[in-house]
Amino acid sequence: MKKVKGLSASKGYAIGEMVVKGKHTKETPKFSITDYKAEELRFRKAQAEYNKELDALYIKTKEEISENDAEIFQAYQTILHDEELFGKALKRSAEEMVNIEYAIECECNEIVAIFETMDDEYLRERATDIQNVCKKVIEILLGGENDFLNEIEGKSDLIIVADDLAPSETVVIDKTKLRALVTEKGGVTSHTAILAKAMGIPAIVGASGILAVAETGEKALVNAFKGEIILEPTAEEEKSFALLKEEYDKKNKVYKEAEKAPAISLDGVKMNVNINSGDKESMEIFNPDVCDGIGLFRTEFLYMDGNDYPDEERQYKVYSTIAEKAKGKEVIIRTLDIGGDKEVPYMNLPKEDNPFLGYRAIRICLNEPEIFMTQLRAILRATAHGNIKIMFPMIVNLEEVLKAKEMVEKAKKQLLEEGHKVSEHVDIGIMIETPAAVMLSDVLAEHVDFFSIGSNDLIQYTTATDRLNEKVQHLYDCCNISFLRSVKMIAENAKKAGKYIGICGETASEAILIPLWLALGIDELSVAPSQLGKVKYLIGRMAKTSVQELMNEVMSMHKIEDVRARLESFLEEIDR
Ligand code: PEP
Ligand code: MG
Repeated sequence: MKKVKGLSASKGYAIGEMVVKGKHTKETPKFSITDYKAEELRFRKAQAEYNKELDALYIKTKEEISENDAEIFQAYQTILHDEELFGKALKRSAEEMVNIEYAIECECNEIVAIFETMDDEYLRERATDIQNVCKKVIEILLGGENDFLNEIEGKSDLIIVADDLAPSETVVIDKTKLRALVTEKGGVTSHTAILAKAMGIPAIVGASGILAVAETGEKALVNAFKGEIILEPTAEEEKSFALLKEEYDKKNKVYKEAEKAPAISLDGVKMNVNINSGDKESMEIFNPDVCDGIGLFRTEFLYMDGNDYPDEERQYKVYSTIAEKAKGKEVIIRTLDIGGDKEVPYMNLPKEDNPFLGYRAIRICLNEPEIFMTQLRAILRATAHGNIKIMFPMIVNLEEVLKAKEMVEKAKKQLLEEGHKVSEHVDIGIMIETPAAVMLSDVLAEHVDFFSIGSNDLIQYTTATDRLNEKVQHLYDCCNISFLRSVKMIAENAKKAGKYIGICGETASEAILIPLWLALGIDELSVAPSQLGKVKYLIGRMAKTSVQELMNEVMSMHKIEDVRARLESFLEEIDR
């Protein structure tokens, strides 16, 4: 058994077969050669490249996990320099005049066959290590990536393992077969992680070293509560894991039941629980009967789908369809939030050193009015089909809000003049996701109809921690007290101005934080569809009076670990 640790991005358990993106899995080709010395040179180059990679993995794992866990990479280096194994392969290549990758595979198979007959479990495990090293060397020799989507074809119970997955790649994977996602890079609120959560698929990110040990076709157990991937599990381990999964599935059934009723606390306070949507799948599964609407409709997918900007008609169709599907419930459409980790190739945005601090979201929209006007016109036309609200992301000052509102008015005027139908009043809100907006929230509240807290970015910007950088994820903490104080400040300013306030970042469904959201008078939690039942269930198990005491207690604490411990013990009391 081997264990790799990462961060839990979407909780759950999965048992399945791994497909490792970018790893060689097809048959190794065999062909004749004329120059065996050139083959040796190719091998030495691949050996040096892999050796360097293992050096880096050793250091990283030692620093971030433990020396013990890092030792596997030293063991791989020993195998990589085993002249018995690779010396024989070079000899075979020269004698039979065949390509070196084929010769390596033959030698590897022979050695592995011997190891596998051994009684000693430790030695049998070494056979897998030898295979892993040989496969990697062959992969480097063959020039890297295979077509990942072809690998997935025809397989079920998939656990996708990758260095990183772009949202565009996650989107194309058949969700009915996908059991878990594991990435070596990334943070818990990367958009891939958000997508996984939306789909209710367990995901682990920042799993340092996973690519070196995971092999396509092998079984793995994914514990996305603990952020643990277990490779080569024993039958015993698999059995106890299956039991754990069964328990969890049972609990999930209880949560699922809670979906049907509104979220009302023990002392009668109702919270709206909405869903976040932002891809074709979540639009399809959207069921207005089990939620209070869509609290965040991310529109980026429309721009990431094709090779050109989506025109007004196409956007109008999508927005009006979702508004109609909502049957009168609110649909908060967020204007384009491209940039950061969401790229659109045809936009030709220059590479930036700090994309999260750069040209993204409302900054692009205000600077490129044509793109913005097209979207605003489409949204406004769709207001005739349902209860649509408009929300601007990444606000840092009042000027941006006023300018954006001015453009809404301009688009409305144009549409009316052209004879289009537009709802008479359209609520305009902003995301509070920068410390600048937090500090100005008393002023901003006077100019908008609602706030929605984008906690994914707010934690990132408050703690100066890149939400995608696995090296600093220990600082990206939803219990960070400065973040919690920020939410309190925003909520108080919204209330003072009599404005509606929601949370649409991932913390909206973070179980330990829900008591605080109720205590602070948050009107709406907008969550991944898979989290609806759990959030409603938990709200129904707490009373506003008791969570207010808890909130006061927590807000006076100084250490994050004390906050977490107190919130966890409260959760345990209410969710047994
Ligand atoms: C957020 O920042 O919390 C948010 C909901 O927006 P996104 O994750 O799309 O940046
Ligand atoms: Mg955001």
